[in-house]
Amino acid sequence: MDQPNTFYESAEKIHAREVDGTFDRLRSASVVVLLGLYYVLPWLRWDDRQAILFDLPARKFYILGLTFWPQDFIYFALLLIIAGVALFFFTALAGRLWCGFACPQTVWTTAFVWLERIAEGNRSRRIKLDKSPWNADKIRRKTIKQVLWISFALWTGYTFVGYFTPIVELAREIIAFSLGPWESFWILFYSFATYGNAGIMREQVCKYMCPYARFQSAMFDRNTLVISYDTARGEPRGSRSRKLGKSNENEHLGDCIDCQLCVQVCPVGIDIREGLQYECIACAACIDACDSVMDKMEYPRGLVKYTTENAIAGEKSRILRPRIYIYGTLLLVLLIGLAGALSSRYELRMNVLRDRNALYRELASGQIENVYTLKILNKSERNHPLTLTVDGLQNFTVATDPVEPVALAGELTVITARIQAPAKDNSDGGHDIVIKVSSESAPDITADAESRFFLPVN
Ligand code: SF4
Ligand code: SF4
Repeated sequence: MDQPNTFYESAEKIHAREVDGTFDRLRSASVVVLLGLYYVLPWLRWDDRQAILFDLPARKFYILGLTFWPQDFIYFALLLIIAGVALFFFTALAGRLWCGFACPQTVWTTAFVWLERIAEGNRSRRIKLDKSPWNADKIRRKTIKQVLWISFALWTGYTFVGYFTPIVELAREIIAFSLGPWESFWILFYSFATYGNAGIMREQVCKYMCPYARFQSAMFDRNTLVISYDTARGEPRGSRSRKLGKSNENEHLGDCIDCQLCVQVCPVGIDIREGLQYECIACAACIDACDSVMDKMEYPRGLVKYTTENAIAGEKSRILRPRIYIYGTLLLVLLIGLAGALSSRYELRMNVLRDRNALYRELASGQIENVYTLKILNKSERNHPLTLTVDGLQNFTVATDPVEPVALAGELTVITARIQAPAKDNSDGGHDIVIKVSSESAPDITADAESRFFLPVN
């Protein structure tokens, strides 16, 4: 019977072999640190609130002692630009460093593989288990794996929502079965995405879904560090006895003993000896594997290593080149800019609206009064009792409603200010003025805004 035409190729399950080595330890450390931060950060407290909380309904983002408002979008934009430039910088320098060591897909996949190993054992046991018929041991191991995976995925989903809803309250709601529909949806959705991406699809996500995998080669050049097999040294490959090592009998052979270990450890199932391939996520497992073989054979390490295309071709290689300096300088300038912008961030911000109903009012006392609405945003976590002054008028007085104005912490406070000035002390017509508010408890915390004050024209 003819096979139906299909664009879908079902992927063969890859059982990557465990490996130990420098890069594996680096990746494990990166996974532990990044996952540790993800799961621990929402539990940290700052004063009487969650240290990191993205409160979408209130449109406020709390990050440690800082509160970000929608007006602070510039910082977020700056952060995204920094992330983009950092990606260019590190990719130009060392290829897919991000993919191999810090991408969430890699990090969670590594964690899921660890859980799989706890339940099903090492690579050979896992292969045997998959081939074996369903029996009590297989059911038990597969069930343990699913329980571990689903629990971990649910904990991940719960933590994710805990960045947007206070995580302690969320726990109480879960225990009391009183979760709202949106919280339930996002916990389940994020858990399902984690389970599917890191447990089931794994490197298929990198191969077929990740856009970065498609365009990262555009950031490479012949001086970018890539993981590569030294063909000149390794070929012709061939197996040999370990004892004979480099004896005369093996003279015609290169250093590759064709043990296939580099293929067995590869999570995407490719053979690095076939050259640079877009599927390679630069996890460096093949370097660790091959180095361990070279050690056993008492050959020098580095048959598979980080190198550049120029070095492989025997040409001069320059890792520190103009584009690295340009990206590096840009990154540094942006980081300094962000740090400067954050440290000089205003705690108070003010908008002034003139009363549109009357240009001015003449009081019985002979004073001329103009009325203003002050909208004062206090971005800090403390209340500021305010003092109000005006530049540009002689002998003015100010009456406010409320009488003792306070900019409340994390709030937008609206104050009515009645500014009065004697006509005899100020010239006729319009005056440019600057209204200033400052905190009584911290006079260096101020905000000001320009406006106009009108006097009658005689
Ligand atoms: S070839 Fe495989 S094992 Fe080697 S770095 Fe690439 S993905 Fe990792
Ligand atoms: S691990 Fe090294 S020696 Fe073994 S097949 Fe791969 S490249 Fe050759």
